[in-house]
Amino acid sequence: MIGTCKYCGQAVESLEENCTQEAADVWATLNCDCASATADRRTKEQVTAAKDRVFELFGTSCAEYGFSKPIEAENILLLTSIVDAVANHTISSAKIHFGKAGSASISMTSKSKIKIQRSQAHAYQLEE
Ligand SMILES: [Zn+2]
Repeated sequence: MIGTCKYCGQAVESLEENCTQEAADVWATLNCDCASATADRRTKEQVTAAKDRVFELFGTSCAEYGFSKPIEAENILLLTSIVDAVANHTISSAKIHFGKAGSASISMTSKSKIKIQRSQAHAYQLEE
């Protein structure tokens, strides 16, 4: 099956024999060496890595990073949606406050990297 890269139109033979034209085109785009297809793959890898980072910092493994408790599952999904929007440049940055669980900042850096940051204030006060 021959597919065409959606960026440069180059024909690339798919390894799948009996797939749809659409699937062959997707395969061609994923395997084309042109600059746009390469940039697209890089963005997808970045998004995957950024979402993994969201799960690390805000999910059950957050204690490894010094945070006291994970945020709600639906809010983790919200953050992963924001990662998509930042990667697509429809949002330049977002900051969300979770009350006692701290806050999340998601933004695109000047070097085109997706930055994920979690902050949680820790204050201790004694009065005699
Ligand atoms: Zn291409």
